[in-house]
Amino acid sequence: MSVDRIADRIRGGERIEAAEALELYRRAPTPLLGRLADEVRARKHPDGIVTYIIDRNVNYTNVCVAKCNFCAFYRPVGSPEGYVLGFDELFRKIDETIAVGGVQLLLQGGHNPDLPLTWYEDLFRAVKERYPEFKLHALSPPEVIHLSRLSQLPVPRVLERLIAAGLDSVPGGGAEILVDRVRRLLHCYGKASADEWIDVMRHAHRAGLRTTATMMYGTVETDEERLEHLLRLRALQDETGGFTAFITWSYQPDHTELAGSEATGIDYLRTLAIARLVLDNFDNLQASWVTQGGKVGQLSLAYGANDMGSVMIEENVVRAAGASYCMDEAEIVRNIEDAGFRAKRRNMHYEILGDPIFRERDVPRMLELATARADGDTSIPAELRLYPARSRAEKQRRD
Ligand code: SF4
Repeated sequence: MSVDRIADRIRGGERIEAAEALELYRRAPTPLLGRLADEVRARKHPDGIVTYIIDRNVNYTNVCVAKCNFCAFYRPVGSPEGYVLGFDELFRKIDETIAVGGVQLLLQGGHNPDLPLTWYEDLFRAVKERYPEFKLHALSPPEVIHLSRLSQLPVPRVLERLIAAGLDSVPGGGAEILVDRVRRLLHCYGKASADEWIDVMRHAHRAGLRTTATMMYGTVETDEERLEHLLRLRALQDETGGFTAFITWSYQPDHTELAGSEATGIDYLRTLAIARLVLDNFDNLQASWVTQGGKVGQLSLAYGANDMGSVMIEENVVRAAGASYCMDEAEIVRNIEDAGFRAKRRNMHYEILGDPIFRERDVPRMLELATARADGDTSIPAELRLYPARSRAEKQRRD
């Protein structure tokens, strides 16, 4: 089918299938792809509002046994650079987040064999006890699988226990590309196969949690595999309706074992636009300014995105791979309004919380993203000694 005919089908509100998506992705001129994605975005969001959330992207540990070859963030068990954040450190981060109007933690970390399920339960309970209204958007599917293996409990039971302790929603990390050929090449098949990732999300949705979905592209996958990834997400969304949003970003190669080069801005905008066209059952697409920078992030609003993601007071993973963009609330709002939209704060459920908070009260400007810990801080949180370590290195450290 010709590009024009497929474009007509999209304009008529019809769903496109794999071959049509591939034809568009490969052959449609970039301005046309952007226009189509923008039309679909405007149909779903006719109010001219672009949203964002104030939250904090905290990585509770960088110790990980998964060893994905695209990851510059993790440290192996026993590494002197490995860390686990203490409960008090996390409380301090929550206090700082609340001070600038933040409403949740996006809490993810490495697959640390020395943190049992009870550590997560105790942490979540402690957070909810101190901050009953504060939300925990935590633990991507591979982390849930890791906890299932570690505790020898099935995934639905792990989710049930985490929800009872205070888990509010699940971030869509660790999806990379949901095709097992790619996952094997990226050394991330072991942490979760494509089916396993989808299955955790299915269980989370059935348990009443809303989740996001992501795609990291630009490593070893083909165009067909990027589209297969999108189609798998669309199929699960048809089944459960549990995804609130989709976020895509390009692989960041610095300091990784895989190395290579980063996808271009046009590749990003085309990928975002095709995602808007394929994911016809997703309401929200985020702009990934953290990896693409503010300028491409702003352009994303003309290529299908209706959300600027997070003000993100802290970031560790993307920074480890060489990208270090920072925008505080004032800067995000400036980019939204300059693109012709109205800026509104939201929560994880995309409910509007209000106008920019810096217009309501004094909020300190944030010109640099915080890190998990200060450089050289190798302290071991006191409460860790209450939990049994599995690795020999950690047993010795905790003694
Ligand atoms: S991407 Fe996540 S699971 Fe993979 S090595 Fe990095 S921290 Fe571990």
